Amino acid sequence: MTPDVRPHEKLNRVVIFLGPPGAGKGTQAKELARKFSAPHLSTGDMLREHVAQGTSLGQRAQPIMGRGELVPDSIVLRMVAERIERPDCSHGFVFDGFPRTVAQAKYLGESLKQHGYKRPFVIHLAIDPSILLRRLTGRRTCKVGGEIYNVYERPPKVAGICDADGGELVQRPDDREEVIGPRLQAYEKQTAPLAAYYGRLGLLHVIDAAKSVEEVGQQVLQSVKSVRGAR
Ligand SMILES: [Zn+2]
Repeated sequence: MTPDVRPHEKLNRVVIFLGPPGAGKGTQAKELARKFSAPHLSTGDMLREHVAQGTSLGQRAQPIMGRGELVPDSIVLRMVAERIERPDCSHGFVFDGFPRTVAQAKYLGESLKQHGYKRPFVIHLAIDPSILLRRLTGRRTCKVGGEIYNVYERPPKVAGICDADGGELVQRPDDREEVIGPRLQAYEKQTAPLAAYYGRLGLLHVIDAAKSVEEVGQQVLQSVKSVRGAR
C-alpha cells in the first residue's frame, strides 16, 4: 500500500538523513521536503546564503571557504540554530548532510529541545559497499548536456554516447575507484559512531538504499508516517 501525502499535510517532524555518498541522501531529502512543502536544510546552502548576504557569520566563513578549508563547528552550529528558529521551520524540516559528527548531533539535540521540537527522526540509508561502489564507479556524465548515466543500472542506448544530445559520456575523476574507495572508508569512519549514537537513543530507522529511487522514496514516506506524532 502506497502512502500518500494529503494536500497541506504537515511533516511535523525533524528528519535527518544519514548515508554514504551515492546512497541517494540528497535526492531523498529533497523529495521528502517537497512532498510536505517543508524546508530542506543543507549547511552548504546556509553558508552560501550567509556569504551572499554578507552577515557576520558569512564574513567569518568566507575566507575559510575561499581557502578550501572546512568551516568550523563554531560557525556551522550557530547558522543551524539561527535557521531552525525561522517560522518556516515550525511544521518540521529535513536536514541533508547534517549532523556529520556525534558532537554536532548532541548540539542539535539540545538546540531542538530548546526550541520546543520533538526528537529527530533519523533515517539511515544503508547500502552494501559493493553495490555502492558499482553505482558510483559506473556513473558517466555527458560532456555536452551534463546528463548522468550508469553503465550498470541506467546505460545509454549506445555505449559512450548521450541519448539526449549525442554528447560523449565520460567518467569524472571523482568517480574513479581509487578516489571512491578512500572516500567511502572516510565516510564509514565518521558516520558509524553517529549511527550508533542515534541507534542507542532509539531514533534510527534503517532503510535499504539499494532499491530504486522511487522504492526508497516510498519506504522513507512510509516510515516517517508510521511514527508521526510519536514523542
Ligand atoms: Zn547529453
